[in-house]
Amino acid sequence: KELGTRENNVAKIKVVVRKRPLNKKELARKEDDVVAVYDDAYLTVHEPKLKVDLTAYVEKHEFCFDAVLDEQVSNDEVYRKTVEPIIPIIFQRTKATCFAYGQTGSGKTFTMQPLPLRAAEDLVRLLHQPVYRNQRFKLWLSYFEIYGGKLYDLLSDRKKLCMREDGRQQVCIVGLQEFEVSDVAIVKEYIERGNSSRSTGSTGANEESSRSHAILQLVVKKHPEVKESRRNNYNNDGNESRVRKVVGKISFIDLAGSERGADTTDNDRQTRIEGAEINKSLLALKECIRALDNDQIHIPFRGSKLTEVLRDSFMGNSRTVMISCISPNAGSCEHTLNTLRYADRVK
Ligand code: ADP
Ligand code: MG
Repeated sequence: KELGTRENNVAKIKVVVRKRPLNKKELARKEDDVVAVYDDAYLTVHEPKLKVDLTAYVEKHEFCFDAVLDEQVSNDEVYRKTVEPIIPIIFQRTKATCFAYGQTGSGKTFTMQPLPLRAAEDLVRLLHQPVYRNQRFKLWLSYFEIYGGKLYDLLSDRKKLCMREDGRQQVCIVGLQEFEVSDVAIVKEYIERGNSSRSTGSTGANEESSRSHAILQLVVKKHPEVKESRRNNYNNDGNESRVRKVVGKISFIDLAGSERGADTTDNDRQTRIEGAEINKSLLALKECIRALDNDQIHIPFRGSKLTEVLRDSFMGNSRTVMISCISPNAGSCEHTLNTLRYADRVK
């Protein structure tokens, strides 16, 4: 299979919607599937409504996106339609981000989990191609979480991290562990290790992880020649890592459940604070992507921790893929419409 290098063929911002199938519970309740997908790009939501006199009717909402993937579409095809086209241009100084957005239970984690593995597979293969073989490119991985506006390293016992900007406006997450990964089996191990450190409270895994953003980064770095590296290696982390130049990177972001941003009136104080933080970050994200799309010089990344962390990915040669995940059942209609309206505004 050939991976091209035609940079301009890859849209700067791509918005894709993925609909999951009805699950067992929804089928058992005989819930209607209210989402119809047409022509790979259009979808209609049939919202059940009641009039004042309690007669039922359906309000139709139509949307169009870069691609709409229905419940038949495999994870492999999702990869091919979203991330695969970006992979070759990572070697040409591209910083890419791929988001999964949607309510809890809509399929964000299901969609997101396999993507970095497939991407790593392709990146590693490219590293070994003759054009790149002599360039001393290596692949690095890091995995962290933003929870309640704070950063935690998922690959070093949830160590708390902080952010710093260096003189060249590069974002640096102080203390974040990065690992060189030379094959996909190792990538898989790190992903699994990171997943098991995601925030899980007494209330159960999905409940808590739905309040955090998980960020997995694959970074291509150019390593110095051995000679040069010996001269510059002061046994100091900062100096040593500065010697390896970032060529490009791709970040995979499993966002907090979009409905969590509405938890701002909850009785529990902590839940309220987290809800406000999530709301702020999802709004800031939308604003940043819109600014990018309009080629604005000023990108409002200071709006939240999430966008600040992604600051360098919003500058220069960037690519953004937003995968909006939606549930098909009538009971999720309101959340589904909110997700689609968000995605529509991002476009
Ligand atoms: P989220 O991360 O948005 O909360 P999950 O990814 O955990 O949602 O998905 C909720 C459930 O639905 C999981 O059991 C998952 O396996 C299932 N699921 C999600 N998307 C699909 C899909 N496209 N096909 C089959 N099952 C899916
Ligand atoms: Mg999830």
